[in-house]
Amino acid sequence: MDTDVLVVGAGPTGMTLAGELLTAGASTVLVDRLPRRSDLSKAGGVQSRTLEAFDQRGLLEPLLATGDHPVSTGHFAGIPLPDQPGRHHLPWRSVPQVVIEELLERHLAARGVHIRRNHDLVGLAQDDAGVTDAGVADAGVTANAVTDAGVTATFADGTTVRSRYLVAADGAHSTVRSLLRAAFPGEPGTLTIIAADVRLGGADPSASHTWTEDGHWAALFPLGTDPEGRPLRRLVLGGPGQSLPRETPVTEDDIRRGLRTVFGTQTHLLELRYARRITNASRQIERYRHGRVFLAGDAAHVHLPLGAQGMNTGIQDAFNLGWKLGAAVRGRAPAGLLDTYHAERHPAGAAVLRNVRAQSLLMDWAGTREPDVLAAREIFTDLARLPDVRRHLAGLMSGMATRYPMPGSELHPLVGLPAPDLDLGASGRVHELLRSGRGLLLDPAGTYAQAVVPWSDRVDRVGEAGLAGSDTGTGAEPMLIRPDGYVCWAGAGGARPEPALAHWFGDPR
Ligand SMILES: Cc1cc2nc3c(=O)[nH]c(=O)nc-3n(C[C@H](O)[C@H](O)[C@H](O)COP(=O)(O)OP(=O)(O)OC[C@H]3O[C@@H](n4cnc5c(N)ncnc54)[C@H](O)[C@@H]3O)c2cc1C
Repeated sequence: MDTDVLVVGAGPTGMTLAGELLTAGASTVLVDRLPRRSDLSKAGGVQSRTLEAFDQRGLLEPLLATGDHPVSTGHFAGIPLPDQPGRHHLPWRSVPQVVIEELLERHLAARGVHIRRNHDLVGLAQDDAGVTDAGVADAGVTANAVTDAGVTATFADGTTVRSRYLVAADGAHSTVRSLLRAAFPGEPGTLTIIAADVRLGGADPSASHTWTEDGHWAALFPLGTDPEGRPLRRLVLGGPGQSLPRETPVTEDDIRRGLRTVFGTQTHLLELRYARRITNASRQIERYRHGRVFLAGDAAHVHLPLGAQGMNTGIQDAFNLGWKLGAAVRGRAPAGLLDTYHAERHPAGAAVLRNVRAQSLLMDWAGTREPDVLAAREIFTDLARLPDVRRHLAGLMSGMATRYPMPGSELHPLVGLPAPDLDLGASGRVHELLRSGRGLLLDPAGTYAQAVVPWSDRVDRVGEAGLAGSDTGTGAEPMLIRPDGYVCWAGAGGARPEPALAHWFGDPR
């Protein structure tokens, strides 16, 4: 084996995953076909759950220190969502994707992982027939069964890398997905819109989304500032006549014309930094696992970039998969653990595709101005004034309401959701304690000190002594938290944690 896990693609998904693998004690090789990091502007919005996950790895402070990243309410179909859930409320931030990628690359380099660039994957072969036909069980990859079986990846220059597992984080046009001939069902693109990073002059349109009577529209989002401190905006343009083939270059004239059509002469273009056409294709891979190969990020799901979902979803895929692969290569994975990646992340991806479709309809991105669509939007806008509706939508968009099934635990309001970032006084915050990449048992009444001993090489415990001075004291709920920050057991009602410990952390023997 050259490495435990080969990660193909050094976008935000691949780099997050490489970091998670290191944290979980797996060796990793991260490759990308590009000679250098792309400076194309893509994502601009980072959701609460991503910010929390970064906090759980000590990356939040360095991220916020990279510049002035405006806080925003986030939105659903352009309707602002002021109520972001989460105990410590990390609101949506506007952070350009390039900044996130720079940070992740820097942190990987500091931990000794340097992206192998100019590595264009062109072939792969799995040599373990038991697991190639995918997805159903962990056949051959059960607890403590680390074998020599693996995957051989071939690159355009003829070199190869052999690994126990391979993760495809190679983006929307994934080569790995094609090589696997993996089903990627969904709808093809039916329209394109323009996305551009701009500096604007003249009157600053106050609404983030503006339509004209005849269906032209523009959407504007903050993108921080340029090095001279001047505000940058993400401009999205669509409507009749805009929908040209994706490959058609976008000119300054296209942008000027679009601005004039929607805003008249009051707003004008000062600088065009970057522009592209994007389609509304909406697809999700049928199986996130194909034997020893896993797909994550845009390689597994594509949709319109609406409401800051794509990069955030890919980063969450990576947080979900990293610790599981780490457990597998260290021989600690309980049977079925690797299959929970598909079981948890496929529904989460499907929910994202659904919310993006609904947003696209309500925003009338096709510019139809159909009365039915306009009526639906009006009613939806009214509904979104209700605090409960806003909270529901904010949970959906921020990733905070993504709930995983947690066998091994009784039903409980905390179980399956991200752990609250409780302040545990002298012990620190829950998110800080998760930085070790280990599981965490909060045991405020000191009931489970013995129960956790057999797993003490992979699960930390904070008991009553560690809670002195905390904001909840010994009244906090006992709970078991997975390394990705999700509560997998909560002990109200006297239920014992051992079944959940065994289910998620394996056989202690
Ligand atoms: C205009 C726009 C705005 C967006 N806004 C947002 C937003 O606000 N919030 C949000 O969450 N998302 C947003 N997105 C989506 C987001 O940019 C993507 O979801 C994100 O880049 C996906 O990350 P990834 O790492 O999965 O894939 P990518 O970023 O596409 O990275 C894939 C990497 O794989 C490499 N690769 C490909 N093929 C091979 C191969 N054969 N061998 C080796 N390497 C290979 C590529 O070179 C690339 O570096 C936006 C997208 C666009 C276009």
